Order: sequence, then C-alpha cells, then structure tokens
Amino acid sequence: MLNLPHMLRTPDELSIKVGHGYDIHRLVEGRKLILGGIEIPFQKGPDAHSDGDVLVHALIDAILGAAGKGDIGKHFPNTPKYKNADSMKLLDYVMQLVAEREWKVTNIDATIIAEKPKLGKFVAKMKENIAKTVGIEASMVNIKAATNEGLDAIGEGRAIAAHAVVIIQLVPRSRHPFQLS
Ligand SMILES: [Zn+2]
Repeated sequence: MLNLPHMLRTPDELSIKVGHGYDIHRLVEGRKLILGGIEIPFQKGPDAHSDGDVLVHALIDAILGAAGKGDIGKHFPNTPKYKNADSMKLLDYVMQLVAEREWKVTNIDATIIAEKPKLGKFVAKMKENIAKTVGIEASMVNIKAATNEGLDAIGEGRAIAAHAVVIIQLVPRSRHPFQLS
C-alpha cells in the first residue's frame, strides 16, 4: 500500500499552485489600446465591456485559476458597474481576494500576441505596473510580445490575445511565529 502523506492533504494545504489564463479581444477603431495599465499609441483598441486590457485579463484568470476561484467573468460580469472598468483595479481586487486566503503570487510569465503595434519599448512599464499591483519585484514579472506570423485573425490585425502563467504560494498567517491565537 502506498504511503504518500502529501496525498492526504486538502487542496488548500498544497503550498505551491500554478494557474494559466488566456484572453482575446477584437481590435476595432475608436477604442484605446491599454496593456498592462498603460495606453499604447495605436489606431485601434479592444472591443470590450471593460477597458479590454488582454494582458491583465489573462493574468487575472491565471491568478484566479491558481487559487481555485473561478474566472474573470464570474467576478466581474458584463454589468454597468464594470463598463470601461480599469483592469488594474480589477487586478487589485483579485489580489485582495487571494491575500485573504493567505496566497501570495511568486512569479508571472505572460505573452501578448499582436501583429501590431510593436510593444517592446512598453514592456518595462507594464512590468512595473503589474509588479506594483501584485506586490512583487518587477524581476518576478516576465512579459513577452509576439506576433502571430500574419496568420488568422490576430495575424490580420483584427484581434489581440494574451496568455499568462503564475505560481502562487501559501504564506499562512496562522503559522507566523508572532501570531497570537
Ligand atoms: Zn478581456
């Protein structure tokens, strides 16, 4: 008979969990292109209920996924409350939700897929914004910008997408040596 103590733990006692998030939006004229909380000069922007920040939406889904808390649509439905919502504020809310459960984000790796515009020079600022909101060092946030090699809707400039992967780690306050309980 196998004797694997870790299998007897409840899921929340696993000290490290991974989450993945994906998002895609159509690109249309007359909308601002916002990525990682910054406005990128471009003639098109995402057709979305909120500000359509695909990078932050993928990241939110990755964090919620790792924490076992559903997805972005469950927490922020397409109601008037979230019309043109600032996605960085939604990320801030998600971090509070996760912190309540004693989880801390350890690191983030994300990829934005857009044929245009070139995003390289904006990546440092996106990293800084996200690191600040998530509460980690900017060196723990990696953002890559890729094209779709001219293929499909993204390659034709009709859409923008992002993937994000995060690791979250349990930092139980209850095990803090100075905690009185
Ligand atoms: Zn989205």
